[in-house]
Amino acid sequence: MQKKTGTKFIFVTGGVVSALGKGIAAASIGLLLKQRGLKVSILKLDPYLNLDPGTMSPMQHGEVYVTEDGAETDLDLGHYERFIDVNMTKQNNATAGQIYETVLSNERRGDYLGGTVQVIPHVTNEIKNRIQFIADEGKLDVLIVEIGGTVGDIESLPFIEAIRQIKYDAGSQNALYVHLTYVPYIAAAGEIKTKPTQHSVKNLLELGIQPDILIARTEQPIPKSAKEKIALFCNVEKRCVIEAKDQSTIYQVPIEFNNYKLDEIICEKLGIEAPESDLEDWKKFVKYIKTPAHNVKIAIVGKYVGLKDSYKSIIEAFVHAGSENKAKVELKWVNSEDIEHSGPADILSDVSGILVPGGFGDRGIEGKLLAVKYAREKKVPFFGICLGMQCAVIEFARNVGGMKNANSTEFARKLKFPVIDLMADQKKIKIKGGTMRLGAFECEIEKGTNMFNAYQKTTISERHRHRFEVNNEYINTLEDCGLVLAGKNKMLNLVEAIEMPDHPWFVGVQYHPELKSRLTKTHPLFRDFVKAAINFQK
Ligand code: GLN
Repeated sequence: MQKKTGTKFIFVTGGVVSALGKGIAAASIGLLLKQRGLKVSILKLDPYLNLDPGTMSPMQHGEVYVTEDGAETDLDLGHYERFIDVNMTKQNNATAGQIYETVLSNERRGDYLGGTVQVIPHVTNEIKNRIQFIADEGKLDVLIVEIGGTVGDIESLPFIEAIRQIKYDAGSQNALYVHLTYVPYIAAAGEIKTKPTQHSVKNLLELGIQPDILIARTEQPIPKSAKEKIALFCNVEKRCVIEAKDQSTIYQVPIEFNNYKLDEIICEKLGIEAPESDLEDWKKFVKYIKTPAHNVKIAIVGKYVGLKDSYKSIIEAFVHAGSENKAKVELKWVNSEDIEHSGPADILSDVSGILVPGGFGDRGIEGKLLAVKYAREKKVPFFGICLGMQCAVIEFARNVGGMKNANSTEFARKLKFPVIDLMADQKKIKIKGGTMRLGAFECEIEKGTNMFNAYQKTTISERHRHRFEVNNEYINTLEDCGLVLAGKNKMLNLVEAIEMPDHPWFVGVQYHPELKSRLTKTHPLFRDFVKAAINFQK
């Protein structure tokens, strides 16, 4: 690989166990470097064979994060955007499936004519090309590359080999390896244990990679002696063993890294000269998170509540909105099927706001409709997102518009009132992957609505991920019955947002506002929903 730009590379790997927070670590490093005035981006390499996570259940893989350009990506890209506030694109997440797809289509085209196509060099070269492409395209100072999975997994081997070669090609001052490990506390022995870390570094060494920095995830403080032991046995400088204790909020992580001088060490090792990180604004919002003035409880009524990662961006948007409103938002997770069994009143009477999030399939729908009805009638602030907005329209059609059994054609065939339906161009689509209405679309907002109050402008752009839409055939009837069409995509003639009259705050949006909320730039709808919930509580 020929190095074309002056981009420096930071490779982030993980060992011992999964779920150590590599994404947060990569995003935190990104924030610290960006706040030093550097041009930074982050790439996630996922070793699984799906072309993207769009076809996986959220219970398997967590939320599918959608970028402006309509890529369905790993949820870590959400962390990257929330921390470094740079829009990711479809290039920022590559899976083994995509890499193999490219290599195999090259082979069919005859690019390797006469040769045997192999993992090394063909697959590894494709991985290197993708990394270099992002560095060049963005003219980046630093590209952080996070390798999904855990070192030692069979499927991550080509990725590890590719990043080994990059440092070899680029030179030692141009690439850096950061390895996250787990340092457990064994209660019975009353001791911190370093052995798993030693083993996972040995694993990396066998693959030709000497980590420069170790981020030691731990629940207990790591004593100096244990840090020294890790440093000695892993061949890493003592100051480069960074303790990363669990924090009450993920937004504290970059502040901790900064306290350990992680960004200073990185800059020194990569020969980067840059001013100190400016974290003033960030710290202010983190302080609000840690010292809330109110407490407010909001219910999330969905069907993937068993795995909170399914709603990652919504959870984070509430953290941002809480911080902005100086409130701690307590989320009450409600399985909509429970509402079907016991009715909404028992379950929802203690909350000050109800959110019905996105989702697919008919399981639990009737419970969501009961939650919507409860919010509408009891005047509890309500926020419907994507499927949640579709539920609000169905509920209104049935119970206010008198359209008996109105529904979405996603859930029932042969409907008399298909108030939610596929658009004509979606009806022709047979394949599932990457074929929904995806990415950023514009929306025109009606003045005098909660939507306008929130955004304070009439044209906005938000990200989508759905196939079904409000059926235009029923719009006039619904409006005549009082439904407020607060937002429309004029070009495609589609409903983007609805509101309820005579209600303190009832907003449904066809798009996913949670994807664009940032700690220092709370999404206006989440901000106003939380504000409405605080007022309701009063
Ligand atoms: N299942 C619905 C659709 O495809 C809603 C999707 C969503 O909530 N993201 O339109």
